[in-house]
Amino acid sequence: MKITDVLQSDKITLSMEVFPPKTTTAVEKVNEAVREIAALKPDFMSVTYGAAGGKNSKYTIQIAQDIKDSYGVNSIAHLTCLSSTRETVENQIGLMRDAGIENILALRGDIPKEADFPLPDQFHYAAELVREIKRLAPDMCIGGACYPEGHPEASSKAEDILHIKEKVDAGCEFLTTQMFFDNSIFYNYLYRLREAGILVPIIAGIMPITRKNQVARSIQLSGSCVPARFKSIVDWFGDEPAKMKQAGIAYATDQIIDLIANGVKHIHVYTMNDPEVAAGIQNNLSEIIG
Ligand code: FAD
Repeated sequence: MKITDVLQSDKITLSMEVFPPKTTTAVEKVNEAVREIAALKPDFMSVTYGAAGGKNSKYTIQIAQDIKDSYGVNSIAHLTCLSSTRETVENQIGLMRDAGIENILALRGDIPKEADFPLPDQFHYAAELVREIKRLAPDMCIGGACYPEGHPEASSKAEDILHIKEKVDAGCEFLTTQMFFDNSIFYNYLYRLREAGILVPIIAGIMPITRKNQVARSIQLSGSCVPARFKSIVDWFGDEPAKMKQAGIAYATDQIIDLIANGVKHIHVYTMNDPEVAAGIQNNLSEIIG
């Protein structure tokens, strides 16, 4: 099923992200986590695409296919373009289409640090990838990423929003946000997107921080601000893993309830492949989302 069809109903949606194994030894563990998260029957699950040109990309496709065909949950495969040749990107789109994948989250990917970058023949921005998917797989439903605090490379939020608009005009049918920990930043961003004429569904990306060492890494990757209230939680519970996990799930739940109470209908949880975190959030919301 196309993600746009899932998002069209009046219902509040709760979707979950998983990532593929980075090594062959991790395959079993990841498959087990995916199976357990799929058993919660989220509205859909997304599967990330490894950095460095989709190393191990076969797992992204395999997992997205399993979620859909073996577990009966809608899925979306991520695809990045910056670290791959056009030929590789074209092949990946073909493989995804052949695997019966109906949804792709079209991403640029982060700029690699390797010396042999940029490649002589590559896409530079996600909007170009969106056009390429439309050309090769016109029936594919395409999503993209957006950044409530601005993409870290953008010179201003206004410029970043102009580029988001280009992505949507190219055929991107919905957007999932980078993680954020302060809902007021999201509400302000949503207003600015709508004001810029970006009317596609926006899915709020929520990352439950359940380990102390996740904080610095998440901020480094996303550039997101961490509110004082959240810093106090990490200061107080950070060295006690079980308490930190529960506090992180509670903080994310609180954020989601506030979003729903303010009319936001679509929530995407970055599960970090932890079924306990995914189940914790879902149980807390079971009466709210029905
Ligand atoms: P773009 O939309 O291309 O934007 C990148 C930057 O270029 C922005 O600063 C934008 O303002 C600017 N820009 C865009 N168009 C132009 C233009 N025409 N001229 C000048 N500047 C322009 N990474 C992975 O490796 N694998 C994943 O699976 C993955 N999943 C993600 C899922 C979500 C929901 C999010 C939010 C991010 C994800 N990422 C993933 C990270 C993502 O690849 C990086 O954030 C990357 O740096 C930007 O990707 P993008 O698709 O947003 O790029």
